[in-house]
Amino acid sequence: MKVYDHLIVGAGLFGATFAHLARKAGKKCLVIEKRPHPGGNLFCEEQSGINVHKYGPHIFHTSNPEVWEFVNSLVPFNRFTYSPIAVYDGKRFNLPFNMNTFCQMWGCTTPAQARAIIDAQKQEALSAMRTAGATAPRNLEEQALCLVGRDIYEKLIKGYTEKQWGRPCAELPAFIIRRLPVRFVYDNNYFNDTYQGIPIGGYNRLTAALLSGIECRFNEDFFSRREYWESQADKIVFTGKIDEFYEYRFGALEYRTLRFEEETLDTPNYQGCAAVNYTDRNTPCTRIIEHKHFECFGADVYTTPKTVITREFPAEYTQNSEPFYPVNNERNNSIYEQYKKLADAEPDVIFGGRLAEYKYYDMAPVIERVFSYFE
Ligand code: UDP
Repeated sequence: MKVYDHLIVGAGLFGATFAHLARKAGKKCLVIEKRPHPGGNLFCEEQSGINVHKYGPHIFHTSNPEVWEFVNSLVPFNRFTYSPIAVYDGKRFNLPFNMNTFCQMWGCTTPAQARAIIDAQKQEALSAMRTAGATAPRNLEEQALCLVGRDIYEKLIKGYTEKQWGRPCAELPAFIIRRLPVRFVYDNNYFNDTYQGIPIGGYNRLTAALLSGIECRFNEDFFSRREYWESQADKIVFTGKIDEFYEYRFGALEYRTLRFEEETLDTPNYQGCAAVNYTDRNTPCTRIIEHKHFECFGADVYTTPKTVITREFPAEYTQNSEPFYPVNNERNNSIYEQYKKLADAEPDVIFGGRLAEYKYYDMAPVIERVFSYFE
């Protein structure tokens, strides 16, 4: 007899949600986490009365009412709407690409004018692709040119993306840029989803509610006592790196990591919004996050005298840094497929989440994935 039904490796969103639903189903769970805190990259730290997203900004968005009801039953969410600003060459643009952006870019005012400009630029891109023998966009650069044309690609996408991923846009997968909406209406909401918000009081409340009543041990690395941990439970839910689980036998998967420079400023309102993206190549950071805007709106921004900002610098991942973004190019995807074959044949291990599924995952699909194990 093992001590636990499930050993859950990693207290991030996948692990915490799995533990929550397994406990509800009457299973005995142990969660182990190598960091000193739960929540994975959702973790926030309170500074000067502000919840600081320590591993990059997280905005919850979904069109799935079941997921939205689930998270709101644990902690109510606020009405935050992500509307970042892009800065290129000192000029400000609204994101995602919408009538405000087109008006700022070309001075056009009607959807018909904007469409005409974008269509002309798209045609150029399409005919260049056809000449090269391609029928569909083969990479992020071709995809971006086909979506929004050259002006927007060069000013708002190319520099940001190449800083973010450390690779030319022509060597990146097209799906990354399809995350961004293109709209011929004046609407700066970054997401198309029905529901969006931040847990009131911060993400740590969501994590605490998910893990309530569950045994958790922190500063525990699965790999430092693997045999011992494996002996503790009937089933393992593994949310760490799949290549590490298999001792890198097919090679190491690549990631992008992030370096954060955090600063507390003696001003209540530094940039007037949660995120400003620096889309040129010369500014070394990709974006500046001002954390209070996730939870304070309107005049409430002035109720705390200080503000906390974080500059984000993407960097190449090394084994000692945090793996943030999977680099889903052909090489890595084919290595991942080899690991996945082993994982699929593993009767007592469930692999889930960004690192174990090697997937550029938003939060809501992570929860949907966990739901699928309990249906
Ligand atoms: N992107 C861009 N310009 C921007 C913001 C995003 O070109 O100002 C591109 C970039 O390639 C990025 C992708 O869109 O990797 C997805 O952006 P998203 O904001 O979804 O990235 P995340 O929040 O996950 O870092």
